[in-house]
Formats: sequence, C-alpha cells, structure tokens
Amino acid sequence: MPIFCSSVTLPIQVRIEEKLLDLVSKLMCESNLLFARPLIVTMGNISHLAERVRAGFENSPTVKRLHTELIESNAYPEVERIEGVIDEFKPDVLIGVGGGRVIDVSKFTAARRMLPVVSVPTSLSNDGISSPVAVIRFRKESRSVGVNVPAAVLIDLEADRSAPKQNLKSGVGDLLSNISATNDWISSYRKTHEHYDTVAALLSRKSAFEMLDSKRVNFDDISFLQILAEGLVLSGIAMGIAGTSRPCSGSEHLLSHAYDELYPDSPSLHGEQVAMFSVFTSYLQEEHSWSALADFLKRNELISTPKDLGIDFDTFLKVLELAPSTRPGRHTILDGVSEGKVKKAYSKAYSRSK
Ligand SMILES: [Zn+2]
Repeated sequence: MPIFCSSVTLPIQVRIEEKLLDLVSKLMCESNLLFARPLIVTMGNISHLAERVRAGFENSPTVKRLHTELIESNAYPEVERIEGVIDEFKPDVLIGVGGGRVIDVSKFTAARRMLPVVSVPTSLSNDGISSPVAVIRFRKESRSVGVNVPAAVLIDLEADRSAPKQNLKSGVGDLLSNISATNDWISSYRKTHEHYDTVAALLSRKSAFEMLDSKRVNFDDISFLQILAEGLVLSGIAMGIAGTSRPCSGSEHLLSHAYDELYPDSPSLHGEQVAMFSVFTSYLQEEHSWSALADFLKRNELISTPKDLGIDFDTFLKVLELAPSTRPGRHTILDGVSEGKVKKAYSKAYSRSK
C-alpha cells in the first residue's frame, strides 16, 4: 500500500539540557554518531567551554586524533582558512562550539567539504543553531547561504545562561519575528502560488507565540531558556522542512538587512532588529498580536522602536525603500505599500506607551 507523506531531513539528535558540554562525545556515541577525527571549531572568548567538549572526546575510544581551531569571525577569509585546516587535518566531523558566527562557519565549511556538522551553541542568539542556512560575511556584505541541517544539535542551557544578555535578547527577537515572517509567507502563497508548507509554518508560529505568551524574559530561569532553545531549534527545523528560510524570514528581515546595509557598523544584533521591525510589519499585515509584541519588547527592554536604533522617520523611509532589493523576488507586505499606510503603521506601531 502506498504511503502518502513527505520525508524531511532532521538532525539525528537534539538534546537540550543543563551541564551538557562535558557529555557531547558520550551523547553522540549513544546515537551512533561515532567519529575518529573530530575538528572542533570555536572562538577564543569561549575556548574554556570548547575545552570541556574536547575533554570528552579525549576519553572516547573511537577518537584517534583531535584538533581544535579558533576563528575570529564569519568573514570569508576565515572560511578559507578553516578549509585549509580541513584539507590538512582531514576530519570526519566538524563540531561548532560557540555563538552564531562559529556555528555558521562550521556549517558552511562542513557543507563545502561534504562533512557532517554538530552544532553546540553556547549562545542562543538566533535560529541558525539548527537551520540549513549559514550567514557568511563577504567583504562588507553578509549573505545567507544554503547548507546541510546539522547532524546533531546539543544545547547546554547552563552555558547559554552565562551568554551575554544582549545575545539572548537577540534570540528572543529572532523567534518572535516568525509571526511576521509566516504572515508574509501565506500571503505570498495566496497571491503568487509560492510553495507553502503548513507544518513548517505551524512549527515556526507556535514557537513564536509560546515565547510571546511567556510575557516575561528571565534568562536566569532555566525553564524560560528551555522555551527559547526549543523555539529556535524548531525554527531551524521549520526552515529545513520548507527548504527555504521563508518560515522565519519575511518583510521584517528585509528591513533589518536594509538597515545593516545602510549602517554596517551598528552595534545592535540581528534578532532585536527583526523583532522591532516586526511590530511595524505585523501592523501592516493586520496581525492581531502586533500590540502584544510591541508591549513585550518594551516590557522586557528589547529594542522596540527605530529611535532605539538611532533612526528617525526619514531614515526609516530610506530603510523601507531599500528593503525589497535585499532579497529580490521575495513577496512581502512591503510590496506596493502606500505612503499613507506606512505613515499610519509607523505612528501606531512605535508610539505605544508601556
Ligand atoms: Zn533571523
């Protein structure tokens, strides 16, 4: 009898626990992820955390050789340097232990050298921890590139609790932006018949609403970090199911990319930017939760208005004008929006008091 269903590529193993860094090698063994030559990619500021992962592999009976390489950024020259290390050391798996840039470089170089990659995020700053997308900086411009889904995603909540608060706020913002992104996606499906996957959209949306419903951000509370980690993992998996970043990237991401292009040296992080722009796009989309989102951002001291980024209405218009060109062909609520609607949405979205 035929089975009418679709198959999706998922990580073999996802674990979200406290004190997991020391157990990475052991947990991988449990899922038959057995390797002889692991290459650990990390950054100098968190090398003490990577050391704990490394210690586990040193005691593994399958490991013959082990190498740790530090990177400084997600810039393309660093990618080329890691590829040189891969060609010399000949690893059979890459293990990224670190924040977004470490995970991105690990996923990207692993895909280019056709190696499995294990994601061990030490900071929950965006949904790249489990997604088939890597952000790489080519000269002054960051680009999202398709890669493979990580073979395993192993999250140590205790390590993540110690991450800078701004990084964790970014993760919260990136998760909340899924609501605006999925609204754009279904609207594009209705207007342009673009491929739409209900399961991917549901995973993305439900994760974002669980965060929005949590009301209070508390990074000292492990159960709150669990909601954040699970939401970001499911967001990455949603992108894997959809085969596109659509479930987690819509008009709010285009605005953020445009802002990055105009202000490449801005210190604000991706997730907080997309959440702030989501308030505006959600209002345009007539999304009922737009005011709850605005309140959530203010209540929890995330970036909530363009002013927090140092931009006024005229500069916002420049960002808005540039936004569609950052991802040509991606239909969103910004396409053909009138000046009157923009003015109204801007004043409504960004003038609410606490
Ligand atoms: Zn994002």
